[in-house]
Amino acid sequence: MVRYADVIIDISHERLDRPFTYRIPDHLSDQILLGSRVLVPFGKGKEPRTGYVTGFRERPDLEEERIRDILDLVRLREGYTEEGDRDFSIRLALWMKNSYGSTMITALKTVMASRKSGAPKKKRTLRLLMDHDKALDQLSFYRRKHQTARARLLEALIETPEIPYEMVTGKLHIQAPTIRSLKNAGFVEVEETGILRNPVSVSDAGKGPERLSPEQLAIADYVTGEFEAGRPGVTLIHGITGSGKTEVYINIISRICSMGRQAIMLIPEIALTYQTLIRFYRHFGDRVSVINSSLSESEKADQWERARRGEIDVIIGPRSALFTPFERLGVIVMDEEHETSYKNESMPKYHARETAIEIARLRGASVVLGSATPSLDAYYQAKEGNYALFTLKRRLTGGTLPRVEIADMRAELKRGNRSILSASLYRKLEERLGAGEQTMLFLNRRGFAANMSCRSCGHVVRCPHCDVAMSLHGSGNRQKMVCHYCGHEEGVPSLCPSCGSRYILPMKAGTEQIEAYLKETFPQARILRMDADTTSAKGSYEKILSAFANEEADILLGTQMIVKGHDFPGVTLVGILMADLSLYANDYRAAERTFQLLTQAAGRAGRGTIPGDVVIQTYQPDHYAITHASRQDYEGFYEEEILYRKLLMYPPVSHMLSVQVQSPSEDMAAAAAGDLRDLLQKRAAVLIGPAPAGIGRIRDIYRFVLYIKDASYDKLIVCKDRVEEYIHTVQGNGTYRNVQIQFDFDPVNPY
Ligand code: ADP
Ligand code: ZN
Ligand code: ZN
Repeated sequence: MVRYADVIIDISHERLDRPFTYRIPDHLSDQILLGSRVLVPFGKGKEPRTGYVTGFRERPDLEEERIRDILDLVRLREGYTEEGDRDFSIRLALWMKNSYGSTMITALKTVMASRKSGAPKKKRTLRLLMDHDKALDQLSFYRRKHQTARARLLEALIETPEIPYEMVTGKLHIQAPTIRSLKNAGFVEVEETGILRNPVSVSDAGKGPERLSPEQLAIADYVTGEFEAGRPGVTLIHGITGSGKTEVYINIISRICSMGRQAIMLIPEIALTYQTLIRFYRHFGDRVSVINSSLSESEKADQWERARRGEIDVIIGPRSALFTPFERLGVIVMDEEHETSYKNESMPKYHARETAIEIARLRGASVVLGSATPSLDAYYQAKEGNYALFTLKRRLTGGTLPRVEIADMRAELKRGNRSILSASLYRKLEERLGAGEQTMLFLNRRGFAANMSCRSCGHVVRCPHCDVAMSLHGSGNRQKMVCHYCGHEEGVPSLCPSCGSRYILPMKAGTEQIEAYLKETFPQARILRMDADTTSAKGSYEKILSAFANEEADILLGTQMIVKGHDFPGVTLVGILMADLSLYANDYRAAERTFQLLTQAAGRAGRGTIPGDVVIQTYQPDHYAITHASRQDYEGFYEEEILYRKLLMYPPVSHMLSVQVQSPSEDMAAAAAGDLRDLLQKRAAVLIGPAPAGIGRIRDIYRFVLYIKDASYDKLIVCKDRVEEYIHTVQGNGTYRNVQIQFDFDPVNPY
């Protein structure tokens, strides 16, 4: 007779991160299950606390009198069911806590993200009211009048007569006035519907290629064959953009679904384009649903609920879609598996790839990874024989690969060219402007704006709260200094605060400065700039892309946000400025990231019928990341990069744990980090640090970091457990009250 439950209290604090024993009252005895949410008294507080049941016991581990009763069961919204899946959630949360270091309650909340309740929201749908022929007439009218936004909307509706409103304004880049004008003309209606229904219904199902190519079929046959034979495993598809990967995913998913199983399709948020979604809707109609960050918590909960009830077979979404409660899960597909957004950067710092593999193991499902530039991690596993590897080399969409040229900026300087553009890029840009073709200029530097630095003494204006240089924003008398880490703002100094010199001037290299240069040099060109500043307002990102898609500009200038997932057939020239800048990052993945960015950026040229040109400007024309990217040679890059990882014991060849120590007191942080070094020394092959983090202070919090490397992940887990014990002790005896310690296994972004 089970009478006691282990309950994890919903307070995220390391000291409380263990189960407490409670008595199960008789009236709840058959309702409380593993994973149930319960209300319990806790400590001296009068308010009951929420907790999760993580186990049962017949005998208590302390005296009967000291054990209190569970007060109640927290019931979810009317009609919600969750039986059967609790066991899975708890096992997954335990794995997360163990593998990534977090409290059990944080891990549980991550895994059970679906347990939110709330009132359902209305959803708007756009519907075409014209018949097919009339719509086609109207479409050619819009085209003749060059009303491109209206034409695009109508074209989309002709293909798919019902589209969710958010998708139209979002992924289709169409603004409200355009929709209103079609609505006022009586061509479309906007319908408000309740939720719990499919966001799109598609009339002409089954469009798409008639049959897969032999190469595509070989992959789909392999994955489904292994799955049917009871050997679900991990398969990596290395295929350039347009090589037919998505068709392979669709084929695999539909075959596995027809066996009565369910599928999760992971896509990086930024690549959740209308075109991709519509292809899935065509195949899976009502049985597919989408999760994205624009859904409210209760809308998400509705999607999970549909999943739980078995009303859908396929869910599409970013990282968090992994936690869809599919009991009959058969396959997880992860597109663009190299994307850094697959790594969760708050606790628990899980990677979607590893988590997908663990979920698949628990559920008996297959995993399919796909990328044009696979992560070193995935490719290494494939080479080691842990994943099956397939390559798709042919572009099925036609369009030729672009001509790529490397411009050596050192040679330009020698020839006396001090401008931002090499002679070749300048000439090509001029040609494009003359021919009315579009150009994308990609500045390989995230959020980099100009600094203010003193030409006399070298002083750089820094944030008083963070260890970073402040950035110069705006122009004229609206200029100000801004800290990108904490938002602190200051006026622009006219005299050097250190030596009093008047020669304190901007160091130019940001997108704003390049825009100013372009405006001056090509006064007739229409330029759009896209960076952290121009996209901070809601919807502005979509607005800029939509304007460029409508050919309202000749040049799109931006940071890496312009290189992802958007097709502009009018673009025939791509210029990559400062290609090598990302190589200098304090990060062992710098070369990998640079190779991926350059390969992606180069792939933006020549999507239409005219072949494209790419110019890569760099001070390191011989660096292997740059030369291999210019030849689109993944294998060559991989071979050089993996040697370097081997030599220095970096992932994926070895494993690495970063232990991050923070405190408002620099001394305390340093002392705790020192203790940890003593504690961990000799427990792993390599220990580096402690040292101040890449940015040693943010918002007046001091940051230290230790790196531990070892070929065995388990050894690193042991290190993490030691650190956790240490945290318990110092927090118990009050040694370091204001010290926070976090873990990051195989970090993706530097600390
Ligand atoms: P990827 O996901 O690798 O970028 P897609 O699956 O999107 O590639 O395919 C690129 C284009 O080629 C799409 O327009 C798709 O409809 C088409 N395509 C894919 N497979 C085939 C095929 N077997 N026959 C004809 N067209 C195909
Ligand atoms: Zn000075
Ligand atoms: Zn700051």
